[in-house]
Amino acid sequence: MDLTGFEKNLKYLPLRDLRIDDPFWNGCVRLVTSEILPYQYDTLWDRIPGAPPSRCIRNLKIAAGQEEGTFEGWVFQDTDLAKWLEAAAYSLASLPDPKLRATAEEMIDLVLAAQQPNGYLNSYFTILHPGKQFCNLKEGHELYTAGHFIEAAVAWYQVTGEDRFLNAMRRFADLICEVFHTPEYADAVPGHEEIELALFRLYEATGEEKYRAMAYDFINRRGTTDYLSRENTLPRFVDVWHDPNPYVPEYGQAHAPVREQSTAEGHAVRALYLYSAMADLAGSYHDEALLAACERLYENITEKRMYITGGIGSSGVMERFTTDYDLPNDSAYAESCASIALAMFCKRMSRVTGEAKYMDTAELAIYNTVLAGIAMDGRSFFYVNPLEVIPEACMPATDRAHVKPVRQKWFGCACCPPNIARTLASLGEYVLLQGDTSIRVNLLISGTFKARIAGVPVKIAIESSLPWEGHAKIRVRAERPVRGTLLIRVPDYAEDPVFTGEGGAFVPKLDRGYAVIPVEGTATAVSFGFGMTARLIYANPKVSADSGKVAVRKGPLVYCLEEADNGEGLAALRIDTSKALREVPGGGLRDSVTVEAEGLRLQWSGGLYSTRAPDSVPCKLKFVPYCFWGNREPGEMTVWVTAK
Ligand SMILES: [Zn+2]
Repeated sequence: MDLTGFEKNLKYLPLRDLRIDDPFWNGCVRLVTSEILPYQYDTLWDRIPGAPPSRCIRNLKIAAGQEEGTFEGWVFQDTDLAKWLEAAAYSLASLPDPKLRATAEEMIDLVLAAQQPNGYLNSYFTILHPGKQFCNLKEGHELYTAGHFIEAAVAWYQVTGEDRFLNAMRRFADLICEVFHTPEYADAVPGHEEIELALFRLYEATGEEKYRAMAYDFINRRGTTDYLSRENTLPRFVDVWHDPNPYVPEYGQAHAPVREQSTAEGHAVRALYLYSAMADLAGSYHDEALLAACERLYENITEKRMYITGGIGSSGVMERFTTDYDLPNDSAYAESCASIALAMFCKRMSRVTGEAKYMDTAELAIYNTVLAGIAMDGRSFFYVNPLEVIPEACMPATDRAHVKPVRQKWFGCACCPPNIARTLASLGEYVLLQGDTSIRVNLLISGTFKARIAGVPVKIAIESSLPWEGHAKIRVRAERPVRGTLLIRVPDYAEDPVFTGEGGAFVPKLDRGYAVIPVEGTATAVSFGFGMTARLIYANPKVSADSGKVAVRKGPLVYCLEEADNGEGLAALRIDTSKALREVPGGGLRDSVTVEAEGLRLQWSGGLYSTRAPDSVPCKLKFVPYCFWGNREPGEMTVWVTAK
């Protein structure tokens, strides 16, 4: 590492070399191939009874001239297929499946047929405003949609080696690079960020410098121009959804130059896609001011604006960050995509800085909010991830209209389900990072992984008991004698970590949150054990929603109370914080560890108010992992419980 905070030459490993085989994750990761991709494919064709129509494939067929009709759905509807294709590519990386591959190739044919002769691709504008392009960046989502197609094409190329899709999306990227360097677009910025990180991925996949430069231009322009505010006065402007309100620059992180931003503002998914690109570009250009901004934004999010579940963007109005410590539980927005984007940002920050702390946050987001976003059968989804639910109160035309007490089959705006699919299918990228002479183990997830240390091929086997017990065994086998290091992230929740090698227990050197284990010869084996008991967690009293309450966390997992275990009226429960929590192995869904606590239930016999304090009776509280909530009969749920 040099003195500026950059770690050089860390990279993700190809997904085909990363095989996850983990008792906790297999149930979710394998579901991507067996259930999620087929189910989501059917939704894109509008074949799921009772699910809101997607029209995604139909729109592309109309744009390709293969069907008659008009555009239906959201302006960014194409991205549902783009994310599906990206997830399909990742799935094929770990599990070859000729049928899935043929289906994906058919969909790539469709995408290419809908692409215009100049490289432009967007079914909304092609159908409704033929010949128009980039005439409403604020609302049109063309660059956002382009970014998802580019990400899918890069994934497809990296997994299959086929460059047909990649070359087609390069033509689109070339068009973007050309248009956005003309004088009329010299200060234009995307309304919804995503193209920046996608162009960077395209640069890394192809080595073509202009894609990285365009991404850098986009982030350098943001906050320095009023383009998005004055766009609706330009002759080329096309109204997409008529918004009579003036543009709010904070909403799209356009309120200040990115290097001057210190607080996470506006639409949470946009913000974290932007920060992801900022992290990539800070590392790639060695841009210290940009990295410093990323670090400030990370601190602001994790210390003041993030739910205990790794959810971000607390407001249902405008899907946005609000202010420090404003984290309401029952009206939380905490979009699944926002936590995915947070994990994406943290993965990049860990790569750019070589610091382990970012993966503490990525792990929190993935094990809790991202995983809660999908049902255990892979067929229903949360868009919004509340920390407290009373089903009857989730009423239309209220501040909880966006909160759904049960997962939904699909959404008219279906950004989240395919985003969860591509995240689960590429989970391997979160597990390891490769350096020149080192391997970083970022997540303790079991599997077998191929990498290189100092150019020598090595196989890494991880056997982990997480998230139920703090124990992992890591073995490195090299093809020929090698010298290097294995860096194992010591999670922020690990109590009394103990490392054991061939010669017994030892105390390794620590480097920015990693235990440094020397690798020498052809075989290295190390056991890593730590305490990971269920603990009570208190919130800063400035979080008014959590004042006087506690939550339960065990390792990376946050727990919650559900009506199915604790009866109705969870708000009448009090937890006795002086009594120890008791872990019950195998007591919950998917053999999860449940947690029992001593408590009280308030007894009430009056009306709405009374001068008489409630009586109470002792009771046991049963906590289950938040990621599995809502998989039984519908009912109340709460993460935070009032302390006795
Ligand atoms: Zn979403």
